[in-house]
Order: sequence, then C-alpha cells, then structure tokens
Amino acid sequence: MRIAVVREVAPGEARVALVPEVITRLVAAGYEVAVEPGAGRTALVGDEDYTAAGAIVTETPVADAAVVASVQPLPPDVLPSGSATISFFPAGSRLTEVAARRDRQITTFGMEYVPRISRAQSMDALSSQALVAGYRAAIVAAGRLRQFFPLNMTAAGTIPPAQVVVLGAGVAGLQAIATCKRLGAVVKGYDVRAAAAEEIRSMGAVAIDLELPTLEGAGGYAREMTEDRAELQRELLTPYVAAADALITTAAVPGRPAPMLVTRTMVEQMRPGSVVVDLAADSGGNVEGVQPGSVVAIGNAQVWGGFNVASQLPAPASRLYAHNVGNVITLMTRDGAFAPDFADEIVAGMCITHAGDVLHGPTRDALAAEGGAHANA
Ligand code: NAD
Repeated sequence: MRIAVVREVAPGEARVALVPEVITRLVAAGYEVAVEPGAGRTALVGDEDYTAAGAIVTETPVADAAVVASVQPLPPDVLPSGSATISFFPAGSRLTEVAARRDRQITTFGMEYVPRISRAQSMDALSSQALVAGYRAAIVAAGRLRQFFPLNMTAAGTIPPAQVVVLGAGVAGLQAIATCKRLGAVVKGYDVRAAAAEEIRSMGAVAIDLELPTLEGAGGYAREMTEDRAELQRELLTPYVAAADALITTAAVPGRPAPMLVTRTMVEQMRPGSVVVDLAADSGGNVEGVQPGSVVAIGNAQVWGGFNVASQLPAPASRLYAHNVGNVITLMTRDGAFAPDFADEIVAGMCITHAGDVLHGPTRDALAAEGGAHANA
C-alpha cells in the first residue's frame, strides 16, 4: 500500500508532511512510501535522504496512493478516487472542497481535529506546531527589540533586562514564556483559564492577577469573553502593556475568532522601540490593527503579525508534524494495511469525509445550511 508525500504548493508553506526517520518506520510496517522530488527541500531534507530511508522519489507519488500525506490540503481533483488524505483541513472554510471530496469518495482526515485526549498526544499537531510558533514568537521579539533581553552587569555599567508580557498561556504562550526566560528577560503572563497561573509560574514568570473570574469552557479550553468582560480586561491590562518592552499575544478560543485583547490606544502607550508580536494575527488578531504576515507601526511600537508561523522554522516543525502524522497512520494500520477503525474516537474525531458522506457533524450542518449548493452529485 502506497503513502504519497507531495511538494507543498500553498504560498509560503515550507514544511513537509513526512521526514526520513518516520518513513523508515512506515516502510518497516509494510508500506511503500513515494515522495515527490524536492518535497523536503525547504524543510532541509534532500531527495537522497528520502531514498536512504527506503522511499521512492517519483514525479507521480499520488498515482495509486492509498494515503496522501501533506501539510496543507490538496485539491480534490489531484487525488485518486477512494484514497485517504491526512493534512490540516480547515473544513468550515472549505465547504466546496468538502463536497467535492465526498463526491469523489475521498476519506479526509483533518489533523486539527485530533481530540485533545491523553492517548492522542503523540498525534496532536496543533500542539506541536504551537510549540514551534511560540518559540519563534519569542525569537522575533528578541530579534526586533533594540535592547538586550538579559540583565548585564559589567564594569562599564549595568543594562537592565527587557520586560516581556505574554497574553494567552496555552501551548504557544508557555513556550514563548520559557524561551524569553531562557534569554534572560523578566516575563509576566496572563491567561483566563484557572490552571494557567500555576503553569505560568512553573516557567519562572510572574502570573498577572487581574482579579477577574476565570473563563473555562468545554474540554479545559477558554470560553469567549462577553464585551463587558473584554472591556474590563483591556482596561486592567493597560498598565502592564504600557510597561512592556515586548508584548507577545497568543490567545485563542476554539472555533471562534481570536479575542481582541489589546487596542490601538493601549499599544500607543508603549515606549519608543517597543515590539508587539501577535501570533493570533491570521485568525483575527489579539491586537487591534495587526496585519498577518506584515509589520505595522502603531504609536512607538512595531507590531509583527504572524502568518503560518510554524512554517518559519520548517525543519523542526516538519519533524514534529511528521511524527504526528506517522502516529496517526500507525493507529490506522492493521495487519500491514491502512484500515482505519471508525469506532475509535481519534479516527472518528478527525474524519471529515468518508465513503461518500460527510462524517464531521459541524461541517455536515454547515453544508446543509448552505442548501442545494453542495448537494450530492
Ligand atoms: P488555544 O490555542 O486554543 O488558546 C491559547 C490560549 O489563549 C489558551 O491558554 C486560552 O486559555 C487563552 N485565552 C483565550 N482567551 C483569552 C483571553 N481573553 N485572555 C487571555 N488568554 C486567553 O489553546 P491551546 O494552547 O491549544 O491549549 C489550551 C489548553 O489545552 C491548555 O490547558 C493545554 O495544556 C491544553 N491541551 C491539552 C492537550 C491534551 O490533553 N492532549 C493538548 C494540547 C493542549
């Protein structure tokens, strides 16, 4: 049974879905792995590395593939009818493609829908890529700030450490905090979840206490703020933002646009040379006026808007993602063949389309709400 690895075509996507060390494992499990030439180039993996791992390098990897692995979704018309795909697949914004995949009998697994349960941790690509993005956010902040992060005491004088504030302390935020601490900054963090204060402190940072109620939603995630709460939170955070040399924002609420945590007026109170890094820029932004993929000046600050940030460190991001995908394939393998068990909650949770049906409930409802536009062919 063939697993195909394609060269990513989405603009700016530098990751690759499988790396040699994972391919060796899949070949040992009985798969044939076919890789498109140059697929790993931007992630620093050469065709010869794939060959050495037991893969076939071919211009037509997708032909006859049972499983097509990628980072970004592929157009349905390049996929063999009846094949399965494993990639990120933001189904809600791709309803036309969902309908086309359903009609071509393609089985679609979306890596962002892996349930956040202990058994699925090794398959959790949202976490692995958030870790990379959080690290990158800290490095961008340190690189753009025209000051040291650490305290430096020398015979020539003392340079005080940078003050960093991190808003949102999930996987990305905690990694940003840890990285800023390693670089020697004084770090404060804030999150709305009850468990977050302890997690922030465990990274060596100060947990900001605004004396507001915590906001826990389903599955340990944050709930969306009411407008009154958002207004109060912004007011209470204003002095912390004003005192920061670097502000890193990473706040998200599953299935909702990113919460607006920092207004333009708040940024305008930051000192000359300040840096803002907004990791939520491509889902609406935590900072008013942020532009995904660009740097804009607001007041005295330069505001860096993240766009596909994990792809900016494609080698480690690909390695972690490949292990996530490899573990998904292993879960779905029985007796050397790709045979997903749809009774398994991980398999069921991440399946969007299968055997001519849309199995993912919210996507099915969204298609139904759009009426006849996507009716079965
Ligand atoms: P996420 O990307 O959805 O959100 C990032 C952070 O933003 C979260 O910590 C959230 O609480 C915070 N946030 C939301 N609204 C905010 C607001 N108004 N102000 C400040 N902060 C706000 O979350 P995530 O990083 O994917 O993880 C969230 C939680 O899930 C964490 O507790 C994490 O440890 C847990 N988790 C569990 C598993 C697992 O069990 N397999 C895997 C990954 C994450």
